[in-house]
Amino acid sequence: MKVDILASGSNGNCIALSSGESIILVDAGIAKTKIEKRLLEVGITPNNVQAIFITHAHKDHTKGLPLANKYHIPVFAGADEWKDIHGVDEELRKTPPAILNDGTEYTFEVKCFNTHHDAYEPLGYVVKDLYLGLKCSICLDTGKVDQDMLQAMKDSDIYIIESNHVENMVAASDYPNSVKARILSDIGHLSNQQTANALSKLVQGKGEQIYLTHLSSSNNLPFLAKGITENALLKRGFIRDKHYKLEVIE
Ligand SMILES: [Zn+2]
Ligand SMILES: [Zn+2]
Repeated sequence: MKVDILASGSNGNCIALSSGESIILVDAGIAKTKIEKRLLEVGITPNNVQAIFITHAHKDHTKGLPLANKYHIPVFAGADEWKDIHGVDEELRKTPPAILNDGTEYTFEVKCFNTHHDAYEPLGYVVKDLYLGLKCSICLDTGKVDQDMLQAMKDSDIYIIESNHVENMVAASDYPNSVKARILSDIGHLSNQQTANALSKLVQGKGEQIYLTHLSSSNNLPFLAKGITENALLKRGFIRDKHYKLEVIE
């Protein structure tokens, strides 16, 4: 399974997963023309995208959805989340789960789990590559990681998870108090520490690939996100590049 993170952060999130001719996007949070351009840069023809899975309705996850109408791509989101997603042609609106086959042996099975964020029905996704036997979990905006989420994500080969902020940096920032409270709440975003805690429960040291995403541009630094997760995994006896791989997406 090939992972291409086309955009990450509060300016937009878009992830392409491909296996054979099976190609899906998780979120479409940058302009349509940018998605088209970045897909072509990684060797994907926009016409070949089979489905788009939306985590939640916020603009940094949905801005590029006109892509769906243009190429007639089905869009999946939580049933309640559709209340807040506009402009997608009626016949393209779907709800997960889904099985996508490219006409060969490559098949994606996509299931969802509930996350905790200030949206109607925010979701994370578990994508299984049934042909290669690989599991990829995608957990973006969420204020906490609960047992059900851990259960859904466990045994993954690939984790794409937000590592949004350093709590002290948010507290000391210029943001209005209401915004600070929202980010730090149970329906806000994951701090580096929360992400590290979740990963230390999930990673088994079998060579998992971890992508830390959706870093705050003002309240985080890539080396901090990386260091906190590395430390948490080291406490479990896992060494980067030996037991797992880690990439911070800026
Ligand atoms: Zn959000
Ligand atoms: Zn977001």
